[in-house]
Amino acid sequence: MSEVLVVDKLEFEVRRSSRRKTLGLTVDRAGELVVHSPITTSEAELHNWVKQKLLWVHRKLLRKEEYSQGINRLEMVSGESIAYLGQNYRLKIVKKQSVPLRFDGQWFSLRERDRREAPKHFQSWYQDTGTEWLNERVRFWEPKAGISTSKITVNDLGFRWGSCGKNGSLYFNWRLLQLPVRLVDYVITHELVHLREHNHTPEFWRVLGRVLPDWKERKEELSRKHAEMVWCMDGDK
Ligand SMILES: [Zn+2]
Repeated sequence: MSEVLVVDKLEFEVRRSSRRKTLGLTVDRAGELVVHSPITTSEAELHNWVKQKLLWVHRKLLRKEEYSQGINRLEMVSGESIAYLGQNYRLKIVKKQSVPLRFDGQWFSLRERDRREAPKHFQSWYQDTGTEWLNERVRFWEPKAGISTSKITVNDLGFRWGSCGKNGSLYFNWRLLQLPVRLVDYVITHELVHLREHNHTPEFWRVLGRVLPDWKERKEELSRKHAEMVWCMDGDK
């Protein structure tokens, strides 16, 4: 039975350890709240400490919720900003247009009568545009890594940015297309190296370091801004 602390109607699992000298708090991917504590800290102390952290906890939970709604949280009104490869573009709602969604390099224009289905149109736009763009980008990295791929697929991978399949195929999450290119490059090179070294062994990081010398900074940036996501099946953070 694990120890549970309830503060402000939120449940925290308390994990005590003799190695722990200070208190810590984490929100995991599923939104579970965990307090890491030394053995001897009293419940009252824990309670007071967690109370001071509530604002942070609520902010974190909110961000997760926003993420899980993804593009659905957008109101789809003119002027709203849409991210593509780290740049923000404006949305324009138009009356007439031959396709539901179009991007001209400056504006996204969405046909008014397709507003309700907008998340679906955006996802397929990212998927179509993304498959082409990612294909080119992977070709750029292949010779640098000395590793080649057979097929690139862009689809919904949930909480994963990318994964590698059998026979040299790579999969990428369409959400990746919203990030700056330097972070996309990290995910691409990470997955490329997985085609040679399946697990996160010292050899894996050594090969990645040869392909992308500043991989560490990019990895940290990615996890700072997108803590809810992982990169691989094995969920390295
Ligand atoms: Zn990995």
